[in-house]
Amino acid sequence: MSTERLYWLDAYLREWSAQVVDRRADGHEIALDRSAFYPEGGGQPADHGSINGVAVLDVQSDEDTDRVWHRLAAPLADDAVSCVLDWERRFDHMQQHHGQHLLSAAFEELCQARTTAFHLGADSTTIDLAIDSDALTPERLAAVEELTNSVIWADHPILARFVTPAELASIRLRKPPTVSGPVRVVSVADFDHSACGGTHPRSTGGVGMLHIRRTERRGTETRVEFICGGRAMRDLRWKNATLARLAADFSVAVDEIEAAFERLRTAEATARRSLEHATKRLLQVEAAELLAAADGGVVVQLWRDRELDAVRALAGNIAALGGVALFGLAGAKAQLVFASDGQQLHCGNLLREIVSAYGGRGGGAPTQAQGGIPSADDLPAALEQAAAQVRASV
Ligand SMILES: [Zn+2]
Repeated sequence: MSTERLYWLDAYLREWSAQVVDRRADGHEIALDRSAFYPEGGGQPADHGSINGVAVLDVQSDEDTDRVWHRLAAPLADDAVSCVLDWERRFDHMQQHHGQHLLSAAFEELCQARTTAFHLGADSTTIDLAIDSDALTPERLAAVEELTNSVIWADHPILARFVTPAELASIRLRKPPTVSGPVRVVSVADFDHSACGGTHPRSTGGVGMLHIRRTERRGTETRVEFICGGRAMRDLRWKNATLARLAADFSVAVDEIEAAFERLRTAEATARRSLEHATKRLLQVEAAELLAAADGGVVVQLWRDRELDAVRALAGNIAALGGVALFGLAGAKAQLVFASDGQQLHCGNLLREIVSAYGGRGGGAPTQAQGGIPSADDLPAALEQAAAQVRASV
């Protein structure tokens, strides 16, 4: 026995009774004699809801037997059942799905762009268009959005019916049928005729509104993301709240946020330049102080959790003042940084010798060298050894 598809008779039917006509998967899946649960297909996700109080997790159509199968959260032994549709989920799908029909028709009318794919997801809804993304300028997208919404607000009746082959031949279909047998056509005045088995509002006004969120190049095609109805309202609410929070943070009106942000960005760039200058100057002062306190112009120092760039700059500053810097850095890695004027001491050679004695690697120029050793525990001994060699050679 096949399943009578109530969603085709009345897309607004939310509660009905039915008989179980078949079971499988230990009773987790049941087929009904009549069902308004829409099975996944044509880009529209499956309905959810409950059957005798048990949650319906998925709905699929078996084309061979013409049955609709309902996957349940728990097995059900009853034969007579009461069904309740998750209407919020279904109506959301109806808004997005019908919005897609209108949007695809508008793209065809204004951009001669055919729709090649439709995806209705929980978070985003997209169509793929056979058109290069460069052709879809902001102005053309705005025109498509405006045409779509004008059709929505005209509140045209949406006519969905099965047609005879003779009738079908007389209808200019935007989307040809993908199924064999009787063809169901969904029509909106003269604006759009599509072969479609999905659920739709009674009239275009049910879509509420449609907003194009963004486009994305997909090879030679373009993906267009859009939202309709309740999703558009929630998106607007979220964006409004986000802008209001930003405006409050900046203590400005919403239309002044961009200018406030620009001022912040300029101030941040100025502050960053000042900080770089001050940091550079501070490292010069620090180098002079370290050198003044050092024994024989050799500054030996083990740093912990300091930026490598700062340690290198400090070493370079000491070398520029005529001293020798032998630095260890115990951070995420154990590192050595040596610097001198390169006259009496070849930093690269000394560093290579020291790090290889502790199982590490490194090297560099006569004036500055850098390397790492496996254990930070060895850094004091490595520095001591380097200092001894420097003092012996000068
Ligand atoms: Zn459709």
